[in-house]
Amino acid sequence: MHSMNPPNLTSMLQQLIATPSISSVNSRWDHENTTIINLLAQWLDGLGFNVDVLPIPGLSGKANLIARIGSGEDGLVLSGHSDTVPYDEGRWRYDPFVLTEVGDRLYGLGTADMKSFFALVIEAIKAMPLGRLTQPLTIIATADEESSMSGARALVARQQRLGRYAVIGEPTGLRLIRMHKGIAMEAIQLTGRSGHSSDPAHGINALDGMYRVMSEIIAWREELARCHRNAMFKVETPTINLGHIQGGDNPNRICAQCELHIDMRSLPGMQLDDMRGALKKRLATALQGSGLQFKMRSLFHGTPAMETAADSIIVQYAEALTGFNAEAVCYGTEGPYLTELGMETIIMGPGEIKQAHQPDEYLEMSHIKPSIQLIQSLVHRFCY
Ligand SMILES: [Zn+2]
Repeated sequence: MHSMNPPNLTSMLQQLIATPSISSVNSRWDHENTTIINLLAQWLDGLGFNVDVLPIPGLSGKANLIARIGSGEDGLVLSGHSDTVPYDEGRWRYDPFVLTEVGDRLYGLGTADMKSFFALVIEAIKAMPLGRLTQPLTIIATADEESSMSGARALVARQQRLGRYAVIGEPTGLRLIRMHKGIAMEAIQLTGRSGHSSDPAHGINALDGMYRVMSEIIAWREELARCHRNAMFKVETPTINLGHIQGGDNPNRICAQCELHIDMRSLPGMQLDDMRGALKKRLATALQGSGLQFKMRSLFHGTPAMETAADSIIVQYAEALTGFNAEAVCYGTEGPYLTELGMETIIMGPGEIKQAHQPDEYLEMSHIKPSIQLIQSLVHRFCY
């Protein structure tokens, strides 16, 4: 890799937007991210960082970046994902891969979620005396946040201490988030035996069984809501959504197979694996004596819930800097993975979440200056 002084902010933004890095569970859309990782690596190398490009084991063309400057046990990590979601063909007014300035907005795929964060970090720190850091500054760019979280999971597998405090620059409108729910998606499959509808004894009805399953899930959901509550969230309880069902073919045939898909959202302190285990046990009991075969599989293994303590120094510092109180949200991030590596983590970055994953995604240009100032303040506070 050759080193290169980072170009000006506009040019960095243009190059990042022009470098496709879509990740998707659908292979038709999924794209490599090594090109954009190498671009960031060159610029950070140019600023004197030690740069590691770490291929994701088993996934060709996918890599994480860890760029580090300074030494010590604590310090600050500025982290983000290098990938974007796919875009809706034909529904964009502007080319998603060309940074387009119109009015006071910058349009392009990833302008809000979240390529601009990297350009703003580099812009913020290139004016700082990085030779005089007393604690390390680490920049992380991950792969596959929008699809499998393989990048974040590969980071956890390395078990490398990266720093004490972390900011993930997801689009939060520069307000800080210290808490989010966990999310998992499960499929529940029942298999019975078909037969003529005129005599129920001819078969084993999977739809009858799914009725028991759904009743049990709804009862469990009510129980969970009674036992778990967190007033930080707009929806204060854990939730379970019955999202999709498919089964049977004809009114006069006993339904032999039925599948239900659900989404479970946990509160901080609840483990998704425990929820999965409890669900499996309850459903097995509910189906006892039915003669049905029962299987559960994860459609999305899940991102855990995240919570950073209200009295964490980084939460308090960011609250003082921004004038906002820390919030809780119902979408997932890579936060819990950084927490697992021992970092006190907040989510805070330019752009708005409602612009993410939309046609004509944009970054409000009024976010640029405050973002740069915020990043510089954080680096000053935690690395000098
Ligand atoms: Zn994002």
